[in-house]
Amino acid sequence: TTFQDLGISDNIIQALRLKGYEHPTPIQIKTIPLFLTGEANIIGQAQTGTGKTAAFGVPIIQNITQKTGRVQAIILTPTRELALQVCEEMETFGGIRNLSIIPVFGGQPITVQLRELSAGADIVVGTPGRVIDLIHRKRLDISHLSYFVLDEADEMLNMGFIDDIKEIIQHTNDDKRMLCFSATMPKQILGIAKKYMGDYEMVAV
Ligand code: AMP
Repeated sequence: TTFQDLGISDNIIQALRLKGYEHPTPIQIKTIPLFLTGEANIIGQAQTGTGKTAAFGVPIIQNITQKTGRVQAIILTPTRELALQVCEEMETFGGIRNLSIIPVFGGQPITVQLRELSAGADIVVGTPGRVIDLIHRKRLDISHLSYFVLDEADEMLNMGFIDDIKEIIQHTNDDKRMLCFSATMPKQILGIAKKYMGDYEMVAV
């Protein structure tokens, strides 16, 4: 299987090749065509290190074809390290396209993030606590999303972010597409899926 087989556009394949990605990983092979050809919400069971960031990041970058002046995708991560890593990785998928991908997380003065957000973010990658804070300050509007991603959902639950995640979902529009990646599938995650994701497809590696 090649990236081309999965429906990835040539310019992104080129960007991936520059990163040394020659062949898609199993989670990418299962997730990317489902994402690009379907409309379903997706739950992916995959460990860290399997290439799950590109499994959701590549098709999101491919499908966000223009700036709208609003945040079009948000990715929630359990830690600031992962937020930065996802952000940096997604920036490289786009090649020359200048989508603005902004990381937001606690532990950094909020002023920096406020400035970056007000310059216009297409995609936000952040930890739940800081995302809630920014929503409460009315500096982050996630009511016009195309994509909502929970990355390492089980870790976020372990860290006690469940209520934050539920509240964040309340601030989003209904017609977004949801993706949830998790190494394990505890009942609570399936509960979130049932409550907020309606119909979903499940992929596992
Ligand atoms: P992740 O599971 O997203 O944290 O990815 C684990 C590591 O694999 C990261 O260093 C990625 O840059 C790398 N990676 C992801 N997809 C591929 C691929 N198709 N080919 C080679 N490396 C990849």
